[in-house]
Amino acid sequence: MSITLSEANSEEIITTSASIPEDANEGSLRPKTLADYIGQEKAKGNLEIFMHAAKLRGEPLDHVLLAGPPGLGKTSLSFVIANEMHVNMRITSGPAIEKPGDLVALLTNLNEGDILFVDEIHRLNRAYEEILYPAMEDFAIDLIIGKGPSANSIHLDLPHFTLVGATTRAGQLTAPLRDRFGVSLRLELYTKEELLKIILRSASILGVSIENGGAQEIASRSRGTPRIANRLLRRVRDYAQVKGNGVITKEIADIALSGMEVDKLGLDSLDRRMLRAIIEYYNGGPVGLETLAATINEESVTLEDVYEPYLLQIGMLTRTPRGRCVTQKAYEHLGIVFPGNISGQQQLEL
Ligand code: ADP
Repeated sequence: MSITLSEANSEEIITTSASIPEDANEGSLRPKTLADYIGQEKAKGNLEIFMHAAKLRGEPLDHVLLAGPPGLGKTSLSFVIANEMHVNMRITSGPAIEKPGDLVALLTNLNEGDILFVDEIHRLNRAYEEILYPAMEDFAIDLIIGKGPSANSIHLDLPHFTLVGATTRAGQLTAPLRDRFGVSLRLELYTKEELLKIILRSASILGVSIENGGAQEIASRSRGTPRIANRLLRRVRDYAQVKGNGVITKEIADIALSGMEVDKLGLDSLDRRMLRAIIEYYNGGPVGLETLAATINEESVTLEDVYEPYLLQIGMLTRTPRGRCVTQKAYEHLGIVFPGNISGQQQLEL
């Protein structure tokens, strides 16, 4: 995913779920099969049935939409699908398709059964979406060649392919595009137990010695996100090598993560700044997202896609029609006295 993080320093972005340069080699940690792909049991269960049925019919899998916050495994899951279906996958993203010709070239270069993975599909230019409609439905496109009276329309048949779209914003997809996906799956934040398994698996691939306590410490501070879990594992490994004997123990993990300003719940300085701003400037909320983003000098899309999902999940933040509010739990976590009957509290009772 390519959500940009403005003016965030390295301490601040260590727990962002958006991809950062140090994740460039995360490919080696990607699960290859459904069995390797930990968690997301509901999505996996559904996919398993659909893939099995498609194989029995000798047809490509229906088009799949994968929705969920960054770093939860949408790209990985599409690799797994390609692998399990024994087909090739071509990868692009909504913003990378800059002109209709880009999309036409991608579609016409596919082979029978191939997967076309479009990351951030909600950012695809609306005007080009119309090329996708007949491509997805009838496996054909109509091209207009030339201009004015001499223009010619040609009909091109496409191979039967599977479009896998990934999005952090399913709500921003137009209805005609959304309706053309036969399978729509929502990925959820991972539990600590699932993250623990992911960390132990990654540690064994990377050849890192880790004790269960160390893995648990990293799991509970990874914001429910495998990408963050893997990133923290690498950073803690460095720390263990330099400051310890190379083994990641609970104590080493704790010292390393605290040094990176990742607290016990996995919150980083930007999370804390966001919660603190709502408390200090807006009496606990409600405050609109744009106003909040301007207050802490961040992009609203980053707050909404990258930071909010976890804060909502752990009950530090609530979303109301009038804006965001912090909860009593957030006051307690930040060590600020909860003033009781304030608007933030009232919002909780809405
Ligand atoms: P997204 O496309 O949703 O942003 P990715 O598929 O790129 O997320 O996942 C980021 C990293 O997290 C991958 O490199 C992979 O190592 C790891 N990962 C994601 N989901 C899983 C999973 N279910 N099991 C094991 N590792 C996972």
